[in-house]
Amino acid sequence: MEDLSFILNELGEDRAHYYNAVSPPIMQTSNFRVNTVEGLKKLFADEYSGYLYSRGLNPTVDILRKKLAALDEAEDCLVFNSGAAAIFAAVLANTRQGDHIISVKNPYTWVKRMFDDIFSRFGVETTYIEATEMEQFERARRANSRFIYLESPNSWNFALQDIEKVSEFAKKYGLITLMDNTFCSPLYQKPIAMGIDMAMQTATKYIGGHSDTLGGILTGSRQMMKKIFDSEYLAVGSGIQPFNAWLLIRGLRTLESRLERITATTQQVLRYLKNHPRVEAVLFPLDESFPQYALARKQMKNAGGLISFYVKAGSRQEIVRFCENLKHIMMAVSWGGHESLILPRCASIKDEDFDPQNLEDRMLRLYVGLESAEYITGDLEQSFLLSF
Ligand SMILES: *Cc1c(COP(=O)(O)O)cnc(C)c1O
Repeated sequence: MEDLSFILNELGEDRAHYYNAVSPPIMQTSNFRVNTVEGLKKLFADEYSGYLYSRGLNPTVDILRKKLAALDEAEDCLVFNSGAAAIFAAVLANTRQGDHIISVKNPYTWVKRMFDDIFSRFGVETTYIEATEMEQFERARRANSRFIYLESPNSWNFALQDIEKVSEFAKKYGLITLMDNTFCSPLYQKPIAMGIDMAMQTATKYIGGHSDTLGGILTGSRQMMKKIFDSEYLAVGSGIQPFNAWLLIRGLRTLESRLERITATTQQVLRYLKNHPRVEAVLFPLDESFPQYALARKQMKNAGGLISFYVKAGSRQEIVRFCENLKHIMMAVSWGGHESLILPRCASIKDEDFDPQNLEDRMLRLYVGLESAEYITGDLEQSFLLSF
């Protein structure tokens, strides 16, 4: 891989072209002047070859694409206006009526909606599997299987897939693989280097890093990215806007240092939670207690700031109080930004269905942000004392 510092600070930037400005300009233009009819002809024939219209290529977005492709050790990259848009384009481009998809059991919520509510309407069926053993893939495979959807680790329970083994399986049967790598980011895991065809990550999380923009990243071969660009990307118009691309370039400058800080703080918060009498168990892929710890060690360089834990609660109300009594840690979806966040599983369960005997119902997901470990554990501590 190219040097990380080089990628984040220089790659893709051509400062001589814009007055040697250190920060690149935002090319806030919808269209580009073309000087000759011959030039227009060439762009109409292949819009991936130059600048014509910002629904296609844009120079600010291109700086970002080069950096993100290099981070994933991929040939090429497309950036979308959200992670969901990136996934949708990748699946749409590679399936047709009558195809079959094999997916991990609990993909990101909106991915499941895509498969169940949208692709199903066009005759594309999905089989969900545990995806922890290769024989589950063998059993799910049909003659019309075309696509494998992976997410490792999962962003709630951190379930992993053996990426190298699944890649081998997919190659053997000519299936296309897409993996959601948002949990790790390219700094901690490299799906493409392990044989996956396309890696996706939400730029909304670690890449943006400041909870102020959405974005979705798709990396893969030049041929695959061009195929998606020529059809779904241009036809649907789901590419990222130049200003948001600029925010993501800005986010990338500090990606390495933010992740280092978050990773270190997470270790301290994890230790605190593991030792807390109100915590029944913690889930963290790089904790020795994690069921797939060995696999996590094998394929992940590190883990980021997500920790799930189960509280010893006798009622839903205790969990509600715990979340609402936090003074600094906010209750919000998303993660990867500067701010620590909490999300209780019971918010997705009907009140009457809450079962204190069920461990899953007592699950909370904590995202550790850029605050100090003391600030975060102090807030957890005061809320534990007040709420139980
Ligand atoms: C947030 C998230 C997504 C969706 O990304 P958006 O940018 O919100 O569309 C997909 N996968 C995972 C694991 C996520 O956390």
